[in-house]
Amino acid sequence: MAPNVDPYDREITYLRVSVTDRCNLRCLYCKPVQDLKLLDRASILSYEEILKTIRAATGLGMKKIRLTGGEPLLRRNFVHFVESVCRIPEVEDVSVTTNGLLLEKMARPLFEAGVRRINISLDTLNPLKYTKITRREGFDAVWKGLQVAEAVGFSPIKVNIVAIRGLNDDELLQFAGLSVRKPYHIRFIEYMPIGRDSNWTPEKYISSDEIRSELETLGPLHKIPHSIHDGPAERYRFESAKGEIGFISPLSHHFCPSCNRLRLTADGKVRPCLFADDEVDIKTPLRNGCSQKDLREVFQQAIASKPRRHHAEILEKGEGLRSMSTIGG
Ligand code: SAM
Repeated sequence: MAPNVDPYDREITYLRVSVTDRCNLRCLYCKPVQDLKLLDRASILSYEEILKTIRAATGLGMKKIRLTGGEPLLRRNFVHFVESVCRIPEVEDVSVTTNGLLLEKMARPLFEAGVRRINISLDTLNPLKYTKITRREGFDAVWKGLQVAEAVGFSPIKVNIVAIRGLNDDELLQFAGLSVRKPYHIRFIEYMPIGRDSNWTPEKYISSDEIRSELETLGPLHKIPHSIHDGPAERYRFESAKGEIGFISPLSHHFCPSCNRLRLTADGKVRPCLFADDEVDIKTPLRNGCSQKDLREVFQQAIASKPRRHHAEILEKGEGLRSMSTIGG
């Protein structure tokens, strides 16, 4: 069996790397305003350690890297680090997930560093509601960042929306309209019970099927065939739209049979499944000066322990799971 194939015959080719747990937003489904527990700085992997880890992952056949956080653009010298990731010959694709607050200034440097695909999280098109959801000012900055990313040439630009009943479910059609006017991939993500700070309840959850039915009141959605960069998204397009609609349905249509990913947390743990806190420590071996072969063995251990499927449906309030901002989403 190839070293990056797990016991359920899934080939693991994708590593999501959280470079920091720090964030400049306090989204009410992700981070608390008070009693925020941040990782101690010394426990966060250095860029050198992350690069060494990514090299080991590519040695096993992982080719696709997503940089996330916390807010990755907040970490000092991030662009320089991105350049180093893009220079690793076996890495075929580097993408970034950001809240977009710092994108106006950083879109061009990131593009020049080699990134072409970017995901921007934006849960509302209403500036006041933006402040309610994120508990910070910033809608205009994100909107400008989005325009600059488009002008610089990022493609695709994916806009991630966590759909929450009673909060932004009145804007689903407006977001759908944005996919018609702009070349953006508007992606609705099901609200997940991840971490104690997610504030998830069954009443606030909206399934992708429900969102799709509402969108179809605008006109038929045409299915787009799956491509390798889609990950778990089901893709659709309205007639003559510039952009697309995507649905990411971890709860209603879990995509575990095609899961191809591992996660590296900011504090150096390899996480086989988003919805399970079983992790393999890679920081200790890294800090003990281990070889690339040793690091590959850590990854193989994580690959071997990927569960067949997640059990998010029993998590309810996310008891026991670490928060999304340390895992990286
Ligand atoms: N700061 C970056 C950003 O805002 O995109 C990257 C980190 S953030 C944790 C990554 C993604 O996780 C975001 O799109 C965010 O909306 C999503 N996320 C966080 N908590 C979530 C939850 N409980 N359910 C669904 N998505 C969540």
